[in-house]
Amino acid sequence: TSEPVRLEDWVRDIPDFPQKGVLFKDITPLLQDPKAFHVAMDRLAAHYAGAGIEAVVGVESRGFIFGAPLAYLLNCGFVPVRKFGKLPSSTVSVEYALEYGTNVVELHTDAIKPGQRVLIVDDLLATGGTVSASIELVEKMGGHIAGIAFLVELSFLKGRERLEGHDVFALIQY
Ligand code: IMP
Repeated sequence: TSEPVRLEDWVRDIPDFPQKGVLFKDITPLLQDPKAFHVAMDRLAAHYAGAGIEAVVGVESRGFIFGAPLAYLLNCGFVPVRKFGKLPSSTVSVEYALEYGTNVVELHTDAIKPGQRVLIVDDLLATGGTVSASIELVEKMGGHIAGIAFLVELSFLKGRERLEGHDVFALIQY
């Protein structure tokens, strides 16, 4: 029998990216390794098996990489939350604060049905600002947030506190 895969071995630190003083967690090595990617997806799917998830919402853009295969594995639909101006049909939008300036994200108005059990997915939880905007979008459409999943959680930034009241799960914690 082989050793269990340690997912953290497939995430690398990039100092000073995207700016000086920031230690960026790069998940591309995990994506490149067939075993690690497979194990990561299987562990996420196992965590939500039987949770009655009806839609997976992926946050642009790395949330798409994990959200789409997770929707496939959970046998439910995939819904993208996109940056302003990218979705072609009628949308609902939310503006949120960045370190410098603001950002607007959107969801198709017919993508989430009232009461639908939604799982929100992104690659990494830092301060929680990005995923909070997606929570707001789903709630505006009347969706029920059954869970919020990440590959990586930077626990020391306390994003989880900002998401209080929600069921937050991460495969890797730092
Ligand atoms: P937050 O809004 O502060 O929680 O930042 C999380 C968002 O920024 C996610 O969409 C991540 O993709 C991205 N992000 C922030 N820091 C990192 C990092 O170290 N590695 C990869 N993505 C990051």
